Amino acid sequence: MTKYIFVTGGVVSSLGKGIASASLASILESRQLQVTLLKLDPYINVDPGTMSPFQHGEVFVTEDGAETDLDLGHYERFVNVKMMRHNNFTTGQIYESVIRKERRGEYLGGTVQVIPHITDEIKEFIKRGAKNADIAIVEVGGTVGDIESLPFIEAARQMGIEMGQGGTCFIHLTLLPYIPSAGEIKTKPTQHSVKELREIGVQPDILLCRGQYKIPKLEKEKIALFTNVNASAVISAVDVDCIYKIPELLHEQKLDEIVLDKLQLDSVPSADLSEWGRLIDILENPCHTVDVALVGKYVDLTESYKSLSEALVHSGIHTSCDINVRYIDSEKVERDGIDDLLEVDAILVPGGFGSRGVEGKIQAITYARENLVPYLGICLGMQLAVVEFARNVVGLRGAHSTEFMSDTPYPVISLVEEWLNSEGDLIRQKPGTDLGGSMRLGCQEADLLDNSLVHKIYGKSSVSERHRHRYEFNNKYAHNLEEKGLVFSGISKMEKLCEMVELPCHPWFVGCQFHPEFASTPRKGHPLFTEFI
Ligand code: GLN
Repeated sequence: MTKYIFVTGGVVSSLGKGIASASLASILESRQLQVTLLKLDPYINVDPGTMSPFQHGEVFVTEDGAETDLDLGHYERFVNVKMMRHNNFTTGQIYESVIRKERRGEYLGGTVQVIPHITDEIKEFIKRGAKNADIAIVEVGGTVGDIESLPFIEAARQMGIEMGQGGTCFIHLTLLPYIPSAGEIKTKPTQHSVKELREIGVQPDILLCRGQYKIPKLEKEKIALFTNVNASAVISAVDVDCIYKIPELLHEQKLDEIVLDKLQLDSVPSADLSEWGRLIDILENPCHTVDVALVGKYVDLTESYKSLSEALVHSGIHTSCDINVRYIDSEKVERDGIDDLLEVDAILVPGGFGSRGVEGKIQAITYARENLVPYLGICLGMQLAVVEFARNVVGLRGAHSTEFMSDTPYPVISLVEEWLNSEGDLIRQKPGTDLGGSMRLGCQEADLLDNSLVHKIYGKSSVSERHRHRYEFNNKYAHNLEEKGLVFSGISKMEKLCEMVELPCHPWFVGCQFHPEFASTPRKGHPLFTEFI
């Protein structure tokens, strides 16, 4: 039977609950336990798919096509298990499901209430997401004290009672601020946060205290006394320069031992974190430096490109390079030209939505193409590479997408519904109905052209990669572009849509309609990023 570890957060948000949960999972996985992780999001949106990156950061796409919280990306980077749709759910999904049941009369005339109906639904969703793992780590989003997360914590509390001793373990992550003027580490916020948690019926078993410094012995004992947590289970989560050091940091303090003890799991093999040690060693002793310009719209919010920036770190691990990412605002390129790009070794245009900054990205692509600077275009970055080529090499009038300029008569990138005439072939929701979930989402297979660059990069003739986009390359123009040297080196198996393009006359110019960054992990990297670097 699955055992559950609930991870809550206190004091402030952004303490790294997701990375802490993922790190613990990776230690347990190295101890031969089957682990999985779940993220519960307290907001009412059904999923983050409709939220702006400014609000929410990156939307992580699972293999089965769910638009989920970016913490699932951390989970996949730390453990060898793929996260699926059921590993993330929101308050919105819980209510949607309960209300549907109510309309079907499944509550037999009863009054539908937060307790027990909403909490029962939450427990069911948690168990469904845990599948049959030995241990499921359940991260509760938000901060203790928020109204929104109350039903989640209540459901966790109930599971603690129902499963009895050894069935569950509660970890609370708090902040331990250092006040420079007093020269002291302050434990009061932690005390209050645990008090708040206990008021709603949850006594944490373990505290992870995030702060600049290791917790001194005296403070540790003080926290233990005031929070009713064993001093050995008050654990320092000190700031580190590299997230992949965290599994070792937690293991040193015996976090996994304490957890297994609480869950009454004995004779579990010991942890082997040597692989993480090896990766960190490479990261800290790079042989080369590579400057990559990331030309995008959300450059002030690195959270919006989380998987991408991590994928670049991974590529550094697999090439012994220190990757220096320069975030360049495409609107600035639009205004001031490409000066910021003159010094870089490579240019990457990531995915994006809307027309803002598009012309700046196109200028960056022209520069990369003409000056033989290695270029990787992801999703919108591939679409714009095609637009740039159609416009500047082929000379197609109005080579823009409808998204970019709605009155153009020749969109090379457009909504499929606008150009596909073989009706019935395409099972795709028409835009204009529901916005949420209406894109081409999740893993789809593509065939790679023999002898193409991408065929060499992947070393195989077909790949399955994750998508999240609405627009497609318009196959009607394939011929015009091919004549001038653009090669369509990846074509989707099902719908025969363009998946990858490349320029053989250029040393390294690749565009992909999918998002390879979602599949990159520190241990394995991803061939596209590794070869790009
Ligand atoms: N906005 C473009 C589309 O919907 C690209 C999306 C993306 O880059 N993820 O197709």
